Amino acid sequence: MSEFLPFTKPYIDEDAIAAVGEVLRSGWITSGPRVQEFEQQLSAYFGGRPVRTFNSGTCTMEIALRIAGIGPGDEVITTPISWVATANVILAVGATPVFADIDPITRNIDLDQVAAAITPRTRAIIPVYLSGLPVNMDRLYDIAKRHNLRVVEDAAQAIGSTWRGKRIGSFGDLVSFSFQANKNLTTAEGGCLVMGNADEVLLAEKYRLQGVTRSGFDGMEVDVLGGKFNMTDISAAIGLNQLPQLDAITARRHTLARHYFTAFGADFEFQTGVQLPVADFENSNWHMFQIVLPETVMRAEFMAQMKARDIGCGVHYPPIHLFQLYRERGFHEGMFPVAESVGRRIVSLPLFPRMVEADVARVVAAVREVLAR
Ligand SMILES: *Cc1c(COP(=O)(O)O)cnc(C)c1O
Repeated sequence: MSEFLPFTKPYIDEDAIAAVGEVLRSGWITSGPRVQEFEQQLSAYFGGRPVRTFNSGTCTMEIALRIAGIGPGDEVITTPISWVATANVILAVGATPVFADIDPITRNIDLDQVAAAITPRTRAIIPVYLSGLPVNMDRLYDIAKRHNLRVVEDAAQAIGSTWRGKRIGSFGDLVSFSFQANKNLTTAEGGCLVMGNADEVLLAEKYRLQGVTRSGFDGMEVDVLGGKFNMTDISAAIGLNQLPQLDAITARRHTLARHYFTAFGADFEFQTGVQLPVADFENSNWHMFQIVLPETVMRAEFMAQMKARDIGCGVHYPPIHLFQLYRERGFHEGMFPVAESVGRRIVSLPLFPRMVEADVARVVAAVREVLAR
């Protein structure tokens, strides 16, 4: 019997474990020196742009929308194929989510559909870089500029991704990352926001901690409604261990993804009707390796058969607009046919740094075997 291969597994080394132990022994376990150091290193990584950390990618997105002044009466355009958090944060600030269908090849939001969805009430676009593959960033910012829209990038999956040689996060408007356990860089839970100026940083700090501003030894003022979204030093210590290793982590993911393409072979799509991901080794950080099954294959059955072969698969993601919360707001089947079709058929195969080439070969053999049944 082979050992169970999960679809992902966090990369945690002994130094990270030691760094967490050190924080726990230090007497300062919540936001402190490690958080400050992590924010400085992230800022350096993103070309010197200001960065603040939070305790999830979700609250990072919500705070980004608040910083952009998005609220009731505003429309925000996003993709139906993402983690539900992407649309939930739009509802959380009282704004109205507007979906635009996806491109069947990249599985990212279709920028032509974005342009078509703009109304006089549109205030922002939230693009998502599914599995770390960015959208056409030149076109995205061209549309935003032409229509005077904010862009809140949901780059949750895209740390280490680039666009034309520039790191995602090193340019653009408000760029949000997640450090949740499955992401390429993790702090167990966490996130960070890359911003454009000092006013935005001030707002981020307020929204992150009850709206509080401190001054002198005993001064305290509260002028906006903030929440409790600060990252702990325990998490920051893990992030500080991971950030210097990120390039190596990304390189390892590239190697494994290339191995998938080689192992599937050039005829695989033609023979099986399965769609492989875009073979982008320039921009993507290969956060996931996602295939789209043909309509004739039942995904649940496919996953069960893979599980029977000790291989875990994931579904990222069912279309957001078909969840009850969104149906209640008027969304229904047929509105975004590409997203609905891809959402029914997409499967994430195992991909994480500590996999070996033989694991990839085993997954590919299992996929072939299951499809042949
Ligand atoms: C992980 C993820 C989020 C949410 O991040 P959390 O840290 O889990 O709150 C949002 N959007 C996308 C696309 C994600 O992958």
